[in-house]
Amino acid sequence: MITIKDKQFEIFISHQQIADKVAALATRLNADYQDKNPVLIVILNGAFIFAADLVRQLTFNHEIQFAKFSSYQGMETTGEVKELIGLSIDLKDRDVIIVEDIVDTGITMGEVLPTLQAKGAKTVEIAVLLMKPGKLRVPLSVKYCAMEIPNEFIVGYGLDYDGLGRNYKDIYVVKSEE
Ligand code: 5GP
Ligand code: MG
Repeated sequence: MITIKDKQFEIFISHQQIADKVAALATRLNADYQDKNPVLIVILNGAFIFAADLVRQLTFNHEIQFAKFSSYQGMETTGEVKELIGLSIDLKDRDVIIVEDIVDTGITMGEVLPTLQAKGAKTVEIAVLLMKPGKLRVPLSVKYCAMEIPNEFIVGYGLDYDGLGRNYKDIYVVKSEE
């Protein structure tokens, strides 16, 4: 068990299980992209560990870019404006694979996907470590998903609770408060 700030977490997915699932996902990508040269866009911060483990098992040529989907308050009072920052490569006619840590409601990926398609990418697929199918609120096609989990809050293996806990090699789930 680990404690981060006010919450306790218990182990949920071991690093060995994660490694097996990431390897299986890499095998699928290797089959589908063997003759291609895609751009992998790793969404910071959460996906950095997943991406590091994944790309070291890829056998096709690919480029890696890191991007951040940041929210800021717009000039107008329309509320949140989101923007993908950090991309420094022309995506026109490229095959793109978005590498993301977790899809929860799907809202983030639902916004990133059209942003990349609008840059002229030939194909855009999502490769995600974790998905909570029970929480998906927008229609989203996720072709590559390593693991599905129930509607619980998790940390570790790149994922944080209030900025902490990304360093744990296993994935932990928050303990329900009694
Ligand atoms: P969505 O837009 O799909 O609702 O949320 C996606 C983002 O929310 C993820 O990229 C991640 O940053 C965060 N998120 C969603 N569920 C969890 C979770 O269980 N644990 C952590 N640490 N972050 C999560
Ligand atoms: Mg994220």
